[in-house]
Amino acid sequence: MGKTVRIEGRDIPVVRETDVIVVGGGLAGVAAAVAACRHGASVTLIEKSIVLGGLATLGHVCVYLPIDDGRGHKIYGGLAEELMRVCVRYSQDSTPEQWRDGPDTAPEDSPRYMSNFFIPPAVLALDEFVQQEGVDVVFDTVFSEPIMEGNTVKGIVVENKSGRTAYMAKVFVDASGDADLVYRAGAETETLKTIVSHWFHELDFDAMKKGIEEGDMLKAVPLRWLGLVPSGQAGDENMELTCDGTTSEGVNEYIRISRGLALDWLKKHQRPDYAMLTLPFMPQFRMTRRLIGKDELRYDGEYHIESSVGCVIASLDEPATVYEFPYEGLITDLLSNVLAAGRMVSAEGRGWAIMRFIPACVLTGQAAGTAAALAAKENCSLQELDVKELQRQLENDGVKLHRPKGTEGNVPVRRRRGAEAPPECGPQINRFYVRTDDRDGIRQSQDTPDEHV
Ligand SMILES: Cc1cc2nc3c(=O)[nH]c(=O)nc-3n(C[C@H](O)[C@H](O)[C@H](O)COP(=O)(O)OP(=O)(O)OC[C@H]3O[C@@H](n4cnc5c(N)ncnc54)[C@H](O)[C@@H]3O)c2cc1C
Repeated sequence: MGKTVRIEGRDIPVVRETDVIVVGGGLAGVAAAVAACRHGASVTLIEKSIVLGGLATLGHVCVYLPIDDGRGHKIYGGLAEELMRVCVRYSQDSTPEQWRDGPDTAPEDSPRYMSNFFIPPAVLALDEFVQQEGVDVVFDTVFSEPIMEGNTVKGIVVENKSGRTAYMAKVFVDASGDADLVYRAGAETETLKTIVSHWFHELDFDAMKKGIEEGDMLKAVPLRWLGLVPSGQAGDENMELTCDGTTSEGVNEYIRISRGLALDWLKKHQRPDYAMLTLPFMPQFRMTRRLIGKDELRYDGEYHIESSVGCVIASLDEPATVYEFPYEGLITDLLSNVLAAGRMVSAEGRGWAIMRFIPACVLTGQAAGTAAALAAKENCSLQELDVKELQRQLENDGVKLHRPKGTEGNVPVRRRRGAEAPPECGPQINRFYVRTDDRDGIRQSQDTPDEHV
């Protein structure tokens, strides 16, 4: 260990005690908080930034990927469907007509049930949504450490403008994306480095004219993506272009490289009829750290999961194979009252890539929030929770626990995985690629490996 300093112990004021605390206000955290409130719990949502949505808003990932299987079956209902609607509530809704009323099935050749959205209206709609649901949001507040009693988290210490304070609860949901709470509370975790990318909206007179002609705002103000694609070969020098989102050094390196990419782009493309409109205000880390839970997503052969809390798909596959996510993938035996939600749930390898798509994050958020409320009400540990009762509640709330009829034979014939990156553009030959997304984003970008989306 390097040089250290000792800080004298001091009393920390307790600001609030609620049934449930959710750490992180990304879409998974929003879903967890709302689900817990709907099941009668008092809920505090702690968010380090000043907006909700996490990567989907701050991180500029404003593409809510499909919640259907690509063959006319809706796979995600519940909050995963509801939050898509919230994101487009105050801007252009690009969900296909066939799905607008939220049917369980649509004609097999229907376009995918997905939507792009604009970020500021989504942020405002998310504020409105959580307020209406009764969630108590504390913005601009960073979780720093758990207050432990054995394997139970009694409260959390946070830092904000008021200084160092504590919030107490019966049950906790870690939706920090980076497993900050479960890691610091002593659970087992896995970390992964992420490639660098940088998405932004741009204004370009030509695109605008086209968008205006077609009456399509999403075409008029397109989303641009820059990214560095490592070849994936261990030892390849390009692999150095991946960063570790669980350390300060890794986060700062990511910011330096990704903003450098954006500046290179701007220097090459700035002209009187062009403007770079936005930047991500959260580093675009795909996977950073996840829980190693009691169980995990099984994506190789075993499809029926008795304790399933909902179906998930690799949203970019067509048709998409449907998997079931186990309750035990949200918890660990090492902690009695903490659930994981979102891109940090228990799933290894390709499973992790499946669980990080927005719809899957919202699904696990809903399951974790509902389980947290039930455990708080029953005063039981998460290991003792009545999973059948949890499943009943989730089903009542629109979640599809088991593979819908007609999806059993889904084997993808189209998937982005393993395909070549588009031709190079920019100074770093073979590493630097650019793609424009719009409402037809999926079809236009088949040639982008899904782990890079
Ligand atoms: C470049 C890129 C492209 C992607 N493309 C797509 C796509 O096209 N479609 C798709 O569906 N998915 C896509 N994804 C994945 C998807 O965006 C994310 O996995 C998903 O949004 C994660 O949601 P989450 O709520 O689990 O986590 P996050 O969105 O990461 O939310 C975590 C929240 O916790 C907060 N937080 C973190 N630490 C703390 C702390 N210590 N204290 C308090 N708050 C904290 C953060 O500020 C944040 O608000 C992409 C991801 C990336 C990076």
